Amino acid sequence: MEQHKIYLTEQEVPRQWYNIAADIKPLLTPPLDPGTGQPMDPAKLRAIFPESLIEQEISDQRWIDIPEAVLDALLIYRPSPLLRARRLEQYLGTPARIYFKNESNSPSGSHKPNTAIPQAYYNKQAGVKRLTTETGAGQWGSALAFATKHFGLECTVYMVRRSYEQKPFRKSMMNMYGAKLIPSPSDQTAAGRAILAAMPDTPGSLGIAISEAVEDALNHDDARYALGSVLNHVMLHQTIIGLETKKQMAKAGIKPDVLVACAGGGSNFAGLVFPFVPDKLAGAAIRMVAVEPAACPSMTKGVYAYDFGDTGKLTPLMKMYTLGHDFIPPGIHAGGLRYHGMSPLVSALLQAKIIEATARTQLACFEAALLFAQLEGIVPAPESSHAIVAAIDEALKAKKEGQAKDITFLLSGHGHFDMSAYDAYLSGELSDYEYPAEAVAESLKKLPQV
Ligand SMILES: *Cc1c(COP(=O)(O)O)cnc(C)c1O
Repeated sequence: MEQHKIYLTEQEVPRQWYNIAADIKPLLTPPLDPGTGQPMDPAKLRAIFPESLIEQEISDQRWIDIPEAVLDALLIYRPSPLLRARRLEQYLGTPARIYFKNESNSPSGSHKPNTAIPQAYYNKQAGVKRLTTETGAGQWGSALAFATKHFGLECTVYMVRRSYEQKPFRKSMMNMYGAKLIPSPSDQTAAGRAILAAMPDTPGSLGIAISEAVEDALNHDDARYALGSVLNHVMLHQTIIGLETKKQMAKAGIKPDVLVACAGGGSNFAGLVFPFVPDKLAGAAIRMVAVEPAACPSMTKGVYAYDFGDTGKLTPLMKMYTLGHDFIPPGIHAGGLRYHGMSPLVSALLQAKIIEATARTQLACFEAALLFAQLEGIVPAPESSHAIVAAIDEALKAKKEGQAKDITFLLSGHGHFDMSAYDAYLSGELSDYEYPAEAVAESLKKLPQV
């Protein structure tokens, strides 16, 4: 009998994270100090991050132990199931098998607690009292609010104004977990005040909110900053997704042909695919496809260059695919994908052609989300719908070629807090955004000279 739901026991949950840095050393680029243009002195990061996370950020050790207390918290919702989307396959009439790793069952509804939990833990161990952060769609803010409450820390969340207005119930959730919320840009920080003075009606962006959260942490000794994506240690924590997936595939005899995930800062994509990269480097024919929004296409339209991670230029320079640090993406509903840059590790793999990138428009994503909800019953996050539409395209390609491929996508989260977006789609009020070519060109002119 074919198996359609592949589960692991709690004992089978991985006890170590996989650090891809060990296997792609020639591709790595150091973060640079914007003041000197020289590789960043890790000690300088101590005002923002605890030592243990800085060590993970620069580590090239292949396997890193998951602390017992972190594992215990992860087991609140892990392991997550690998499911077969049979009704979607039948609807498409494809010989391909479509699987999805479902990360929407976590407390806050996405993959983000996989890193929020260890980040809160390591900060608590280091004696930090409060974490500051940014949030776009609200997924990261609610994950960190949950994790900080779990380990007894305070949490301040700068929420992109556009999402603050679109998603009132994400705010309620963060308030329930005990976090303090500030719409960004705000008048609480110099970075926020500067943006407000120049653009009073701005919808905000992740780049701006990061500047505000970093500034808050720099100005308070007992506070540190937590980032929900982009950085190496975040990618590391998310590998628990792909490590579980590998075990599930081995159990069910699945040989993966195509892995698909959406990409904003790159963490859910990295989480799924990084553990498979050694297999690919050893010759396995696995394609790895990152899907980004056509309105914010850092990988398919950006440049591979050193840039700031934030609009206010407070972060080190990272070599990554970028649209420019002061590019403010159009207000698409997939708020978690509205980021100008991309994880340096994911960027390096793309540059080396180990992974692929593709972009999809907002309406195509919503159409796929509706189909998935009607066939498989799950309302996906608008971010995750980028992975769904690309997985559908892969399944249709397999149909044309008459090939029974195994396609696996990552359902990074559910869309239960995105109902106003789905309402707008259903009533025909949503539209596609033109790719903002001029704004990107303008922003790319301001890349730092390295
Ligand atoms: C934050 C988020 C994303 C995008 O972030 P990545 O770091 O690229 O994973 C995607 N999907 C969901 C549901 C999210 O919450």
